[in-house]
Amino acid sequence: MSIKIVYSEQVNIPLYCFNAIHPFDTTKFGKIYSRLLLIDGIDEKNNVIQGRMCTKEELLLIHTDNYLNSLYDSKTIAMICQVAPLQWIPNFLLQWYLMTPMWYHTGNTIVAAENAIQNKNGGGCICLSGGMHHASSKSGGGWCFFSDISIAIKILKNKGLAKKFMIIDLDYHRGNGYQLDKFQGLLTQKKEDVYIMDVYSKNSYPFYGTEQKSIDTDGAISALDIYKDIKLIDSENYTECSTVDFDKIFSTNFDKFYLEHVNKLLKKSFEEFDPDIIFYNAGSDVLEDDPLGNFTLTVDGLRKRDEMVIQKCVDNKIPFVMTLSGGYGKENYKAVHGSISNIIGKFDNEKSIHK
Ligand SMILES: [Zn+2]
Repeated sequence: MSIKIVYSEQVNIPLYCFNAIHPFDTTKFGKIYSRLLLIDGIDEKNNVIQGRMCTKEELLLIHTDNYLNSLYDSKTIAMICQVAPLQWIPNFLLQWYLMTPMWYHTGNTIVAAENAIQNKNGGGCICLSGGMHHASSKSGGGWCFFSDISIAIKILKNKGLAKKFMIIDLDYHRGNGYQLDKFQGLLTQKKEDVYIMDVYSKNSYPFYGTEQKSIDTDGAISALDIYKDIKLIDSENYTECSTVDFDKIFSTNFDKFYLEHVNKLLKKSFEEFDPDIIFYNAGSDVLEDDPLGNFTLTVDGLRKRDEMVIQKCVDNKIPFVMTLSGGYGKENYKAVHGSISNIIGKFDNEKSIHK
């Protein structure tokens, strides 16, 4: 079975001033790639597929012309990034330094999907970018400009390469973008042909939206649910128990709770649906030191989570595309690299991948 890495260096955002005003390490993709080459000895010729920029025609498969045009206004970009000072930066600079990488993020997800679908025995592609799950046809949000997963689904469907799609989204935030695209019937004629499993924080952006109805397996997590589950809180007497040291409980028990929760939902999803391809949105903002997320998954827990999902794809012989999505700590790249390295070590049988 083969696992390919899809990468292009243009996905990195060379706006180093961002790093001073936002916790997102905008060059983490390149750091992960370098570690795969240097530490794991990934063979660039045989095991890496060069990504590419998407085309405007591809963006128009999901996005409206009006929305694409709105991105030539720096205010819209500032709003999507939630970084107010960007509105004062000349738009041509934002196009060059920020939007061009986003066109590559989208192109790389398309390349990964087209290559993964040829894998009929559960292999797939790990895309060192993508997973912009807050963007939908007419809007963006949370650093997501283009609905890359929706576009890739539409392309595979239009080319007759796949009919049934599963999205497994384990980013800390809910994937409201592709969910709205599905809700509005933009992905497939029959909405049932796209199955969505989403595990996310109930109390965070993007909060509630009607598009949530398009989720098939909803694994929303709230802190209260966790404490109830590990039986440290009696939900009837929540306030009485609220003096418990939550932070400590969170960090010592979260891995177990989260991994069991994900495992249970994966089992349910695979029992209910048999897709031609899986899009695994492997957001790492669930990690304990993530500045934007409140989950406390350990680095080891992240490795186990990603392995668990890929194991399911392999066991069911379904090709997969893994996208990186969110993950914001300055050390985040090390945890993500460790997890990808583990997947390659465990599942890739092509000897050339290791020196
Ligand atoms: Zn996220």
